[in-house]
Amino acid sequence: MLTNNVERILIDEEKLMNRIREMGRQITEDYRGKDLVLICILKGAVIFASDLAREIKLPLAMDFMAVSSYGSSTKSSGVVRILKDLDQEIEGRHVLIVEDIVDSGLTLHYLTENLMTRKPASLKICTCLDKPERRVTPVKIDYVGFNIPDEFVIGYGLDYAEEYRNLPFIGVLSKDAYKK
Ligand code: 5GP
Repeated sequence: MLTNNVERILIDEEKLMNRIREMGRQITEDYRGKDLVLICILKGAVIFASDLAREIKLPLAMDFMAVSSYGSSTKSSGVVRILKDLDQEIEGRHVLIVEDIVDSGLTLHYLTENLMTRKPASLKICTCLDKPERRVTPVKIDYVGFNIPDEFVIGYGLDYAEEYRNLPFIGVLSKDAYKK
């Protein structure tokens, strides 16, 4: 079964949706009258970005970037590569990066440096989850859904070896699953 390797549910669907509604309201206030581009970081942020975008009651554009972070293991390599770049120009526009989770901070550190060279009017970061204990590189996060402890989580877009992204909640991956 899909939920066999879930040790426990950390954030259920209702909590996720309530928080995303609040974040959407905040972002709507902050970006009123601005040319907003949401940059969804594939693949993990795709479900969060889809829900968040619908809670932002403003005209906006969406674009997608794919970067390499984890393979099938649960440890970051620290190497960031762009696998898919933006389709749109962001110069002079207000850019909001939408991430699934910030862990070491290496991915976002790289991404912000890279995107700043394209001269956006502003660049902010929104993440569904944050594991502050794990930070290696400091990153300024403007919108955080939930701070979570240092555990490997799956669901709501987050995978383990490409599975579990379609779980409607955030769960902790059971230790047995790593051994298989
Ligand atoms: P960072 O560069 O901040 O170390 O890593 C960010 C990326 O690592 C996230 O976008 C996500 O893909 C992956 N990641 C970090 N922690 C977890 C986790 O607990 N579960 C899953 N599935 N991916 C994670």
